[in-house]
Amino acid sequence: MSIQEIVSILTSAGIEQREAVQEVKMLIEHFCNYGAKDIIMGKPLDYEKLKIVKNKAEHRAKTREPIQYIIGKAYFMGNYYKVTPDVLIPRDETEIVVDHALDIIKDNNLKNVLDIGTGSGCIACTIKLKTNTNVVGIDISKNALKIAKENTLSHHAQVDYIQSDLFSNLSKDTKFDLIISNPPYIPIGTELQREVQFEPKTALFTSEKTGCEFYKKIIEHGKDYLNDGGYIVFELGINESELVKTYFKSNGYTQITVIKDLAGIDRVISAQIQ
Ligand code: GLN
Repeated sequence: MSIQEIVSILTSAGIEQREAVQEVKMLIEHFCNYGAKDIIMGKPLDYEKLKIVKNKAEHRAKTREPIQYIIGKAYFMGNYYKVTPDVLIPRDETEIVVDHALDIIKDNNLKNVLDIGTGSGCIACTIKLKTNTNVVGIDISKNALKIAKENTLSHHAQVDYIQSDLFSNLSKDTKFDLIISNPPYIPIGTELQREVQFEPKTALFTSEKTGCEFYKKIIEHGKDYLNDGGYIVFELGINESELVKTYFKSNGYTQITVIKDLAGIDRVISAQIQ
């Protein structure tokens, strides 16, 4: 049994060749305790270890469970985060959102940050690790917060996590300089790719057709929790920038900035309250 044969288990299930090679590498690194260097150098793998990798590849091919759930971790901005089906798998696009927030935080010397819908805690943790800020992460899901806390501990970051449906459990005396959120933004009824069906529905879907329910709520109520001149930074779903812009404008926010992702999709929006 060769590594090539294992790759072909994935490609025959419709996974693209380059992705399949990447995933087999991830399986080997994780289950055989192999470094990327060992793979490049062609360090031999014994049969037993290869068999584990083959079984995992077969499971992936059959079920299409995301590779990150199979190995239990996902890479995000320089660190690995524990992930289970209780939390969304961090996406590359989200790195653009966090980069933009980091720029705003550093340029304006901001101190207090709120991450709404923290999930695995990847955003909250990254901001804490890269800036001198106080970070609070909230999520409606207790199970997600358990994972977020584990991630924060393992990265020696210090984030305060609160179980809260949006702002419901936050005291109005608590004010922030920046609110960041990658909220659920997929309109209800949208057909999902097979892999995405493993992810928590509450992290993905909005209950209405525009996909903009959470942006609207956060923009409206966020004003009560932002210091004067405070910022909101969102990750956007496809075709959602125009509607979100109108919510910002009608609620008195200015300095609206939109950033595209590598596919040319409006992916990040930020604005400032006066
Ligand atoms: N904040 C997490 C992330 O960006 C989870 C987002 C979510 O569950 N919608 O990956």
